[in-house]
Amino acid sequence: MQKQTILVHKGRGNPNKDGRAVNAPLMRASTVLFTNHKSWAQRKVQRKSERVLSYGALGTSTNFELEKLLCALEGGYRASLYPTGLAALAMVLLNYAEVGAHFLITDGIYEPVREIDSLFLSKIGVEVEYLKADASDIAQKLRPNTKLLLCESPGSVLYEIIDLPKVSAIAHANGTVVAIDSTYSSSYLNQSLALGADISVVAATKYLGGHSDLTMGAIIVNEKEWKNFNKLPEVLGFTASPDDAYLVLRGARSLDVRLERHEKNADKVVEFLLAQPKVAKIYYPKLSTHVGHEIFMRDFSGTNGMITIALDKSVSREGVDRFFDALSLFGIGASWGGFESLAMIAKPPRSFIDVDGLGTLIRFSIGLENVDDIIADLKRGFDVI
Ligand SMILES: *Cc1c(COP(=O)(O)O)cnc(C)c1O
Repeated sequence: MQKQTILVHKGRGNPNKDGRAVNAPLMRASTVLFTNHKSWAQRKVQRKSERVLSYGALGTSTNFELEKLLCALEGGYRASLYPTGLAALAMVLLNYAEVGAHFLITDGIYEPVREIDSLFLSKIGVEVEYLKADASDIAQKLRPNTKLLLCESPGSVLYEIIDLPKVSAIAHANGTVVAIDSTYSSSYLNQSLALGADISVVAATKYLGGHSDLTMGAIIVNEKEWKNFNKLPEVLGFTASPDDAYLVLRGARSLDVRLERHEKNADKVVEFLLAQPKVAKIYYPKLSTHVGHEIFMRDFSGTNGMITIALDKSVSREGVDRFFDALSLFGIGASWGGFESLAMIAKPPRSFIDVDGLGTLIRFSIGLENVDDIIADLKRGFDVI
C-alpha cells in the first residue's frame, strides 16, 4: 500500500465487520468491564504483549487505531501515544537513563529538551553532550557508554539536515540507540526507521492533527527497541486522551493533500521572499543553496509549510514590529502545522549555520489559504518594514 492509501484505509477498526461506521468509534473509558473473573485475569496476561482493552489509562480502541496507522506509515513495530510531543521526547530520554550513561543530542533539538537535561538527567547521573546540528561530529563524540543518540532533522528553525543512514550506522556500530524527532516529516515526508533510526518521535500536535486543536506526541519504534517501551509509560502513568486520538485520526486522513498544499504555497512564498531586498537569508530545504539540500532531496518526498527568514541587519526592532502589525492573515503564536498561516520571531538556535551579522529571524508556518492572499499579506508587511 502506498502512503496515501494507508492514510485513508488504516486505523479504521476491523474492515470485515458488518454494520460499522466509516470511522473507528471514539471510545472513552476508565473502567473496562468483563463478564467473569477468569476473562479479566486472561486479559491482564494478554495485555502484556498485545494492545487490548483492559483499563482506560492503557489506551482505548481509539488510541490503538491511531497507533496502528502510525506504525503502518512509518514501517514501525509498535507505537505509543503521549499527551504532548515533549512528553514523548521525555519518555525516550527516561527510557535509556541510568547512572553513568552518556547521551548525545544534536544542537537542532526542540529547545525545551535541554531543560529535561538540566532539571532531571544531570541529577540522576546521565551525562549529556551536544553534537553539531547535522551530527557530523558523532564519530568523535561517541563513547563506550553512549546509550542514546537523540537528533532532529530537519531542525525546526534553520532546517539543518542529518545524513540519517550514515549517522545511524556509526551509532549502531557503537551499540548506541538512535532516536529522531521526525515532527517535520510528521510520519509522512520520510521514513526515519527505514533510514536507520530505531525510534521516531512525532509531535502529532503539528501536521498530523493539523487543526491547532490538540496536543499529542507519538513514539514509533522498531521491534528491537520496543521491549523497552512496552512497560515504562504504563508504570509512570503516561497516557493520551481518546478524544485527541480520534481528532488525530481525522486529521491524518487529509495529511497528504494538506501537506501538498502547504508545500505548494511555501514554494510560491519562497519565490516572493527571494525578491525582497529586506530579506537577507531564506532557510527552506528545497532551495539548492540550503546546507544539506542533496540529502534532503534524497530522503524526503517534499517540504511542509515551514520557512524561516533572516531579515537584513538594517531593519530596526520597530520595523519588525510594523511588519508583524501589518499582517492580517498570519496568526502570531507558538506551534505550527495547522491550517492557518502563522508567523513568529525565532530565537537563533545553537547551530553550525552562522546567523551572526544577520537581522531578526522570522519563522513562518505557511497555511492553506489562497497563496496570492498570503503573499499580499506579506507584501503589506514588507511595505512598512
Ligand atoms: C512542537 C514540537 C514538539 C513538541 O510538541 P508539543 O506537543 O507542543 O509538546 C517536539 N518537537 C518538535 C520538532 C516540535 O516542533
